[in-house]
Amino acid sequence: MDAAESKNLPVVGMIGAGQLARMTHQAAIALGQSLRVLAADPGDPAALVCADVRPGAAVDLAALRAFSRGCSAVTFDHEGVPQENLRALVADGVAVHPEPGALLHAQDKLVMRRRLVELGIAVPPFAEVLEPGDVAAFLAEHGPSVLKAVRGGYDGRGVWMLDEPDAPLVAQLLAAGTPLMIEQRVAMRRELAALVARSPFGQASAWPVVETVQADGQCVQVLAPAPGLPEERAVQAQQLALRIAAELGVTGLLAVELFETDSGAVVVNELAMRPHNSGHWTIEGARTSQFEQHLRAVLDYPLGATTPTAPAVVMANVLGAAVPPVMGVDERMHHLFARFPDVKVHLYGKAERPARKVGHVTALGTDMAEVRVRAALAAEWLSTGEWSDGWSAHAGMREEANV
Ligand code: ADP
Repeated sequence: MDAAESKNLPVVGMIGAGQLARMTHQAAIALGQSLRVLAADPGDPAALVCADVRPGAAVDLAALRAFSRGCSAVTFDHEGVPQENLRALVADGVAVHPEPGALLHAQDKLVMRRRLVELGIAVPPFAEVLEPGDVAAFLAEHGPSVLKAVRGGYDGRGVWMLDEPDAPLVAQLLAAGTPLMIEQRVAMRRELAALVARSPFGQASAWPVVETVQADGQCVQVLAPAPGLPEERAVQAQQLALRIAAELGVTGLLAVELFETDSGAVVVNELAMRPHNSGHWTIEGARTSQFEQHLRAVLDYPLGATTPTAPAVVMANVLGAAVPPVMGVDERMHHLFARFPDVKVHLYGKAERPARKVGHVTALGTDMAEVRVRAALAAEWLSTGEWSDGWSAHAGMREEANV
């Protein structure tokens, strides 16, 4: 029996020990709990900080079974948990949230799109790809498109923009056993995300709809609320996410990634059923963070209030720089705190590698444009050790003011 069990408080087990588990652990502490994590590597972000770390991989059913024993609920911080393993846990009587049948829609892009079509929910035109000719036929009908791995893609890996049919690429991917689909490239204004939570009891809650700013297929900033999104559209997007959560039987968090098309309509791009990068802002920016809400939801506790704490909140990811900065991260933190005492920093305990998400920063305020500049400067500084607006850390002033 571990410490939390002995206090008669629940134990949530999270399969995976990345930064999402690390931040969920932080929320668990306040609820009197300690997250149990299944860590593939002892150096994983959550394995570095949790008290209850079980070594093992999500593909190893024996490790999953041992891990789940004594857990009040089992959930995950990534989608790479084989369906058959989750179903075996359910058959053992483990409370898996979300249940495997719901999770499948976050694991398989084709299953998800077919289901949403059945529900009458808008997705871009798409087709399964079984041979290179399928891509050529789709492009002839729909123009520039996006080839996607049906399973296992993340942060733009597993996504290929195609203007022309690229038969060698498609043949190579199929030969390697990658299931593929193709989708029309959407002419869009921007990307949005609607984050909701739903408990087994059926209670649900939604945070304000956010804009997710992308670069190189990866989210770099989240603006909460999405600037200029009419109230009516925001409510529609929240209702869409709540409906998907209810229809698919999601328990825990559901992030619905959306494209806002040039005409202002929204189409669904992707579903995630776990804490999501588009919700990191809620740690400081909402009354209840996504991490606490996920725990509440999988434990069937009543959900927390999602009210924002400021009119404008911006989260910016700290990505490993292309060229590692000469200045160590500790010194970068000193300078950041000196310049922006109000910006909150979250570092994940990961080694800095190019484009790798190693942390994030959050800034709050009243004017979105101003808050965004502050968050962007802070994240860029932590990433590269350079102030892109020419601020001189040593002089404490702008360099041009020195000449
Ligand atoms: P991942 O699973 O790697 O996050 P996504 O399917 O979300 O992959 O695609 C990554 C990014 O590629 C999206 O955030 C978006 O910027 C771009 N993208 C994906 N699908 C389309 C599309 N149909 N039209 C235009 N851009 C797209």
